[in-house]
Amino acid sequence: MAHSKQLIEKLDDDYRRLFTTIRRFGSFYNNSPSLTMHNGVHKFGDISVVVRQDNTQVKHLSDGLDKLNSRLDTCAPDSVWSIVVLDVPSRYGVFYPLRPGYLASFDTYAPSDRVNAMVERERLNNTYREFYGCITRMTEAYVESETHQRIRTIYYPIHNNQALDAIVAVDIKESRTQDIVDAYNDEHHTVLNIDGLDNIYSERGKLPCANDGPYQVGFHYLDVLKASLAPSFLLATLLHLAFHSFRRRDHSIKRDEMTGLFRRDFYEPRFNRMNRFAMLVIDIDHFKQINDEHGHQTGDEVIKACASILSSHIRSEDVAVRWGGEEFVVMFKGIQRNALFDKAEQIRQAIAGKKIMGLPVTVSIGGHVATNTTFSQAYKAADAALYHSKHRGRNRVTLA
Ligand code: GH3
Ligand code: MG
Ligand code: MG
Repeated sequence: MAHSKQLIEKLDDDYRRLFTTIRRFGSFYNNSPSLTMHNGVHKFGDISVVVRQDNTQVKHLSDGLDKLNSRLDTCAPDSVWSIVVLDVPSRYGVFYPLRPGYLASFDTYAPSDRVNAMVERERLNNTYREFYGCITRMTEAYVESETHQRIRTIYYPIHNNQALDAIVAVDIKESRTQDIVDAYNDEHHTVLNIDGLDNIYSERGKLPCANDGPYQVGFHYLDVLKASLAPSFLLATLLHLAFHSFRRRDHSIKRDEMTGLFRRDFYEPRFNRMNRFAMLVIDIDHFKQINDEHGHQTGDEVIKACASILSSHIRSEDVAVRWGGEEFVVMFKGIQRNALFDKAEQIRQAIAGKKIMGLPVTVSIGGHVATNTTFSQAYKAADAALYHSKHRGRNRVTLA
């Protein structure tokens, strides 16, 4: 258990070290000489400088970028995916390396829009502006559309004379997080995991200056058994006791007390780390009216009954989350669009088919199936479909 805390500290230290290394690039940037360059793509080894106007004053950043890259490689081996420096307003861009697709998106926008474009291209709207006291800011993990690589971007804005001079964006492979966990386990002979399910023990951590919610570090009963070469009866008994004493605590971290469904604050960070979705958003129709006419307690019973019907219609590998008061999100594993529609219909009919607390209760459902996207995009699509179901008269299913 002490190891869980230590690993959380290690993850924190490790990412902070990355930020410090990136910030050191600021002085390289400020001390780099400027060259006059013409319109074109200029290559310096792995570095490409994209200039879109003749006689542009361009910072010569090659040495600084080489140094930044090798320092990053020391603190995060094999983790750097790409480094991009954009001056503001962006008359040129420095790419290390220039991956397919980057040039096209650079050229799509006017110089004054390029910094915003970069943020929009990666669907990071609004996030880079909010640095919350962190000089560098790290996005949640996402899949880069052109390359399908799962990364996090660390943004470092360089200010001079209180004006934004340039933005450095360093993409780090998300596998970095698991690498840190693996290295820790190897070194300390532990079996810790990150965001594992059914852990007997878990501890909450949060990556520094990052957009995503907390993650959990913990261990699983079976992993501990497997790891011990001679699992004696005593050890097994102790672990069994530990399992039972922690299960209740663990249950309350994960499960909503009223419905027994998963809690949103437990599952949302996990959804944010996924990139393929087959999901439903389910909302009880005219629920306010039920509350108003029959009281809050009846309302609660209706929510519980709907949650229970919902649970009985999904498989153990599917995840049902109480997303809001009378709204549920269900994430299905490996099912196609047609099957998702059938599932949704089964759930809708099961709820509409019998009275709950003597009342006719219906739900509206929106669904979406997508790969290579972010959770927020997928949720948006499913929620728009739900809106259609409501708009078209409720008690129906719409897939986006
Ligand atoms: P619609 O068909 O458009 O979804 O209408 P609605 O009345 O269901 O929609 P709305 O979202 O406006 O109402 C949801 C209500 O649910 C508002 C809130 O007071 C109530 N509510 C939220 N959580 C709970 C809860 O835990 N118990 C009870 N009884 N009511 C809740
Ligand atoms: Mg409702
Ligand atoms: Mg609602």
